[in-house]
Amino acid sequence: MEGMRKPPLIELRGVSKIYRTEDVEVAALRHVDFKVESGDFVSIMGSSGSGKSTLMNILGCLDRPTSGEYLLQGIDVSKLDRNELAIVRNRTLGFVFQSFNLLARTSALENVELPMLYAGISGRERHKRAKEALERVGLGARLDHHPRQLSGGQQQRVAIARALVNRPSVILADEPTGNLDSRTSIEVMALFQELRREGLTIMIVTHEPDVASYTERLVVVRDGRIRSDQRQVAQPAVLTELEEASP
Ligand code: ADP
Ligand code: MG
Repeated sequence: MEGMRKPPLIELRGVSKIYRTEDVEVAALRHVDFKVESGDFVSIMGSSGSGKSTLMNILGCLDRPTSGEYLLQGIDVSKLDRNELAIVRNRTLGFVFQSFNLLARTSALENVELPMLYAGISGRERHKRAKEALERVGLGARLDHHPRQLSGGQQQRVAIARALVNRPSVILADEPTGNLDSRTSIEVMALFQELRREGLTIMIVTHEPDVASYTERLVVVRDGRIRSDQRQVAQPAVLTELEEASP
């Protein structure tokens, strides 16, 4: 409505996550308040065990907060049951993982078609969209290749195509360059920068300050809390002559 402010794409309000095992309780997130606007390109850093994956799992509707609220596109998803969360996940979110998570004996095209199978899209349309997504990430000539016939960087691009194929608003990537050399990492970050220019919202967890420097907002997590949250000018992800020359 005119005059009304659009809600942020993502808003966490006082979100805590407590893991309870037999004799210990771990507070993985402690009263986290956090907003992400549409089109944000965010990196999340923090030492091991600081709560980054827990934060991503909650943002990704893979897990629910113990307390607090999670508003996604203005809707409180913190109380949805597993099935409802799965629907939100399919429609709104795309995931990219460190280890690519591709099916080994399956072509790039079929890997990218997979999320649409669950979304009930016809075979013809699945094929068309998967092909488009692979072309978009520069793999139009590799549709029939199996993961082992592709380099690490190419496999991650297949995984990014798979994340894009249901036309999500947000891409969540947990250590997407963790298994890639620095040259390939830059290529993958260049692709994320391109997707961001096309209007996607992107959040990545990374250990590497270099990788974070290609994003526009740096969030540091420590002991389950957000320690700092700063806008920055993204470094352009382009290979220098030196990196071009290296094998
Ligand atoms: P990071 O991704 O930053 O390494 P995590 O979010 O994985 O951190 O973990 C945060 C804290 O929560 C750690 O102390 C970790 O041991 C604990 N934790 C994570 N997942 C579980 C779980 N499923 N059960 C119990 N404790 C967990
Ligand atoms: Mg982690």
